[in-house]
Amino acid sequence: MDNFIKDIRSEFPILSHKIYGKDLIYLDNGATTQKPRRVVEKIVSGYYNTNANIHRGVHYLSQRATDAHEAARERVRKFLNAESASEIVFTRGSTESINLVAFSFGEAFCKEGDEIVVSVMEHHSNIVPWQMLCERKKMSLKVIPMNDQGELLLEDYKAMLGPKVKLIAVTHVSNVLGTINPVKKMIELAHAAGIPVLVDGAQSAPHFRVDVRDLDADFYVFSGHKIYGPTGIGILYGKTSYLNQLPPYQGGGEMIDQVHFEKTTYNVLPYKFEAGTPDFIGSTALAEALDFVDEIGMERIAIYEKELLNYAIDRLSRIEGMRFIGTASDKSAVLSFLLGDIHPFDVGTLLDHLGIAVRTGHHCAQPLMDRLQIVGTVRASFALYNTIEEVDVLVKALERVKSMFQ
Ligand code: PMP
Repeated sequence: MDNFIKDIRSEFPILSHKIYGKDLIYLDNGATTQKPRRVVEKIVSGYYNTNANIHRGVHYLSQRATDAHEAARERVRKFLNAESASEIVFTRGSTESINLVAFSFGEAFCKEGDEIVVSVMEHHSNIVPWQMLCERKKMSLKVIPMNDQGELLLEDYKAMLGPKVKLIAVTHVSNVLGTINPVKKMIELAHAAGIPVLVDGAQSAPHFRVDVRDLDADFYVFSGHKIYGPTGIGILYGKTSYLNQLPPYQGGGEMIDQVHFEKTTYNVLPYKFEAGTPDFIGSTALAEALDFVDEIGMERIAIYEKELLNYAIDRLSRIEGMRFIGTASDKSAVLSFLLGDIHPFDVGTLLDHLGIAVRTGHHCAQPLMDRLQIVGTVRASFALYNTIEEVDVLVKALERVKSMFQ
């Protein structure tokens, strides 16, 4: 392990824990990442030193808390290279961001007979809100198919872009297959047909540089807890032109301009979409997490994780009976697999006893499991603190699991 990774690991106290007497090997980063000390300290310091409700107070602490929250918004803007901080809406996470768009976009732009397009590899968070919209408005959901490697079929996609389609909602990176979808190209094609696109960035923002203006995404969402930040905070980016046309998602304090029993008017962007007291401690801790990754460099993170992935593919493929699920040519550091005919749950449980945390099951992508005709996979998902040595331990552990079943 080189010193660079050693130093990074020393920032994450949990990584030195023992599990059943073994060194913890945490390979469940697709579900949530561990937190560096500085992010946790930011949360503690926020509560100890600057805690006061924001925006409405004239007093010193409230103004400091407000400044920190708005600075965090600007930090996210910079991270995504959005044009304006008013295009950054704080939510509870990717799920809430998608639900917000499904509701508000649905109200503004959709009617009976219209269509929403998603892909076959979406997380349930990017399927169910659209199904609910379709049910509410008597619309239909169309699905972009994929090949057996886990790559979307772009010819089929092009053929779907008809006049009834109101929005495309597609994941940037599959949380199961690791496929990096060609979203820039897909957005270009959709825009040529006059259709806006929402990109689910839950699995892309933590792993490589994302530039929403370069992608020309109309909406882009991600979650704080998957990028070394706290739980309970996430982001909806939306182009001003769209956000201005959408009605509010929830009503309450903060999102209003004037409230009278005769008539209520709404606040300007982004506050129109932020009803109630926001997570102003979480937002500053998320900004700290973005400082953390940007100081390392997203480009460097992407290169390192790719090295880990390639090494893991090479070593795991030498295990007899290993079957990778998702072999797209453009792949992020997510490795789903099956080992012989051993149930994924058994593999996961035995690995756990060896100190290795992986995820097993359908990974909130049941329609994808249906497509693949499997019940689930074992998934190792990497982060910047994982190491080549950990992959070696995983390989040995899998050999051991296999021998137990023979
Ligand atoms: N989309 C994808 C691709 C995901 O992997 C996840 C989380 N596993 C989500 C959406 C939902 O994220 P959250 O639970 O943080 O809202």
